[in-house]
Amino acid sequence: MSDSLYVMQDPRDQYPGPPKKSEIQSAPATQQKMSEKPDCGETSYKGSGRLAGRKALLTGADSGIGRAAAIAFAREGADVAIGYLPNEQEDAEEVAKLVRAAGRNAVLLPGDISQENVCLKLVKDAVAELGSLDILVNNAGRMGKTEGLLDTTTERFDSLMKTNIYSFFWITKAAVPHMKPGSSIINTTSVQGYDPTPTIFDYAMTKAAIANFTKGLSQPLMEEYGIRINAVAPGPIWTPLQEANGDKKKLETLGGKTPFKRPGQPVELAPVYVLLASQEGSYITGEIYGVTGGMGSVA
Ligand code: NAD
Ligand code: MG
Repeated sequence: MSDSLYVMQDPRDQYPGPPKKSEIQSAPATQQKMSEKPDCGETSYKGSGRLAGRKALLTGADSGIGRAAAIAFAREGADVAIGYLPNEQEDAEEVAKLVRAAGRNAVLLPGDISQENVCLKLVKDAVAELGSLDILVNNAGRMGKTEGLLDTTTERFDSLMKTNIYSFFWITKAAVPHMKPGSSIINTTSVQGYDPTPTIFDYAMTKAAIANFTKGLSQPLMEEYGIRINAVAPGPIWTPLQEANGDKKKLETLGGKTPFKRPGQPVELAPVYVLLASQEGSYITGEIYGVTGGMGSVA
């Protein structure tokens, strides 16, 4: 296990610049097929019992940001249910292996969450396999790109809304009755929700909706159930999502506009998910935490 995350150093040089080698994959892109692998904490994240005994369900936990959160949760002592698409089986199995190596239980739950019945089954199976549910991370999402308003098909628009927003609603609604006071819900939004790029304006809409969903539910979820709900807003992070029906030019300059001049790595988000999941975040709800590489305010 390396100390790289814990040694004081210049954060501009801590990870590589924009990827030198990238490929456009059809969605969902996998980590297995990436030439330059993202750092999800596999050899670096060290736990200290901050989530001992907790039971967590994370969507999109096979790769990227969700994988980094899953590895960190397991090393902090949580059992982890991993949601993913069936054709990401190999990525998901790698995560399960890492979770088990941390001495925790890993549950693999493939399924397309753009469908309500799959979302309901996901929560039901996670509760049955884990025994209970204390942490829900709504993280799965799809992006791709569009050539503008007139080029945007109803099919793409529908799929983005179903995958990126409806699933959050369906899964959260199904999960809350199982979660006891002290539980935590964390939603992955984006800086795009605040500062949309034209070629992904429709994706950006879904991320704005997630931020609003988080704020809108924070009061009733605390008052009625003692559950906190927060969101994380990443900036440009090196993950398979960037390669999935992506934009080669954007890939070659990813993170170049940040003052770091590099993209973020998924592991750089993991400590924020852990804070929000743990009891250390006891007075934090309805907040949007930016991990944007300095790409602006998300409040
Ligand atoms: P990723 O491709 O590794 O993760 C996205 C995951 O979503 C996939 O692994 C897949 O399992 C899941 N998914 C997509 N469609 C699904 C469906 N229909 N059913 C079930 N699962 C589905 O990429 P990532 O960047 O780690 O993405 C995680 C989240 O972070 C997404 O919500 C994304 O919008 C958000 N985000 C990413 C960035 C970035 O720069 N990478 C920036 C801001 C926000
Ligand atoms: Mg994936």
